[in-house]
Amino acid sequence: MTTIDLIDSAPPAEPQRPLSAGRERALRVRSLKGYESVDGTLLTEPRIEAIRRELQALLRCVQLESGGEPVEIDGFRLRDAANWADYPTSLSDIFWHLSSVCNFGCEFCYEKGNPAGFPIQNLTRMATLDEIKTRLAHYDPDKHTGVFTLRTSINEPFVNPRALEALRLLREKSSRELISFVTNGSLLGEEIVAAMRDLRPIFFNLSMYSIDEQVRRTILNDRRPDRAVRAVTLLREYEIPFMSNVVMWPSIPFDDLDRTVAFLEENRATVVRVCLGGYSRYLEGNFERFEAKDFWPKVVEYVDRLRDRYRVPILIEPNAFVQTSTDAFIDGVVVDSPADEAGLQRGDLVLAVDGRPVRSRTEMMSRVRRSRDAQRYRQPGVAAAAENGAASKTGTVSLLVRRGERTFEVQLDRSLARSMSSYPYREIAAFNDFAYGLVVTDSLRFSSLLEARRLMEKHRAKRVLLLSSMLMEPVVSTMLAKTDAFAGFDVSVRVPENRYFGGSINIGDLLVVSDFVAAVESFRAEGGADPDLVLIPASPFASSPWGRDLTGRPWLDIERNTGLPVALIPCPNLIY
Ligand code: SF4
Repeated sequence: MTTIDLIDSAPPAEPQRPLSAGRERALRVRSLKGYESVDGTLLTEPRIEAIRRELQALLRCVQLESGGEPVEIDGFRLRDAANWADYPTSLSDIFWHLSSVCNFGCEFCYEKGNPAGFPIQNLTRMATLDEIKTRLAHYDPDKHTGVFTLRTSINEPFVNPRALEALRLLREKSSRELISFVTNGSLLGEEIVAAMRDLRPIFFNLSMYSIDEQVRRTILNDRRPDRAVRAVTLLREYEIPFMSNVVMWPSIPFDDLDRTVAFLEENRATVVRVCLGGYSRYLEGNFERFEAKDFWPKVVEYVDRLRDRYRVPILIEPNAFVQTSTDAFIDGVVVDSPADEAGLQRGDLVLAVDGRPVRSRTEMMSRVRRSRDAQRYRQPGVAAAAENGAASKTGTVSLLVRRGERTFEVQLDRSLARSMSSYPYREIAAFNDFAYGLVVTDSLRFSSLLEARRLMEKHRAKRVLLLSSMLMEPVVSTMLAKTDAFAGFDVSVRVPENRYFGGSINIGDLLVVSDFVAAVESFRAEGGADPDLVLIPASPFASSPWGRDLTGRPWLDIERNTGLPVALIPCPNLIY
């Protein structure tokens, strides 16, 4: 019998943030039993849950016993992992399993704000090396398939004392596949950073948040604030490419962001992402509650001023809050990259690529990337993370650019000698994202609108309800104003309220089935005839190949609950 031994009962090397009583209990119970919880498979492999339900139905008819005790089903082992190895995955996804705990306790950590009953909240686990080996044994690096992923809380992978060994095993499996992850950096000591030189291609998101000792101690609950700061200097010393997150939160002063960005630029972060903080109604703690509509504009205004002072590209997430235009604007250029050397700047508008006009950012970047084999960075833990292939550092492209009243053309050479001798560009030259050093945020695609139209035609619908999100609705409206994509149809656009998480959460990908059902019902309450089709973006269900929301409910439940035909518009998650 092959099992995925999924539990490491060895204590972690580093102190973890205090766990709630429920999480501690879950860890203790599952560490003792040593098998896997069904909850972690609800999104990724619901057939396990279906088997459990079948058995539970049988156990209601007859009580089976073992050792005189009734048999209960609260977990599973796989008898032969090879039978379960056709799931889309990647080395980064396998690395994701290293840990589901964090050694920080950030005031804004949304993992602390999950509703009771949220399926993954009690899944405190760490992968053993045996689990990593089993996963790698069944991983096909050409097809990017392997044993299904388990969904757990967001994590700090290096809390797992075996993280470096695991990274080495991953690299043995494929010498060229990009490995990416998210880390708070506090455990990236010199041994790990030095070892990363031999583990490239590697690229990750370092959640820096602040370099201020006091902020780190009080807001992040980082008991050793010097270590993450030191890690950034080590990354520069060993030339390991990374990008960095900061979160804007009322208790973090704006000028702290200024100092943190200065430090990150000095140490050659590829990109800095400023995340606009948000919280669910369940987030505990003594923090200042705020309305996104009041707080976010102040942050955006401040970040805009910083952008003029720093060369490192500074992005804002969620980007849809500041960027409703889909035009091919450049959001920044990687320092010393071919785009930088050619003099391109944030705000430049690309009109044509290699002489062919482009109408949108996504069209521009797909033309610029061209090489289907190039490495593509994706946040790990996402089902479709496996977009890696052979590295491609070569290529040229010509861009027709407008800046203000002036229009000019530039030629970019991906392997420009000056850029290839510069860190971090040299290390990321093969990536599809940041191709030529261009930093361009993703946007909704026109192809998604055309797909929506095809769905309306297929369903012979006339009166259609399109459910968007608070952030994406202005982008959708801008796109509709520019095209006649929905001409001939009566399309109403509505924004579902995020009732499930509540608080200041307004990101569409965090909407769940019950939010969509409520939105349909409130549309009906407006009066008028029922729509004959409800269209919903696929991205809230994208982390599950089975089309399930974050609570594990299938999107088809919207149809079952409303009695209306529902279709999903294919669209990817937006990273920025
Ligand atoms: S570092 Fe990230 S995962 Fe850890 S507590 Fe902070 S926000 Fe949460």
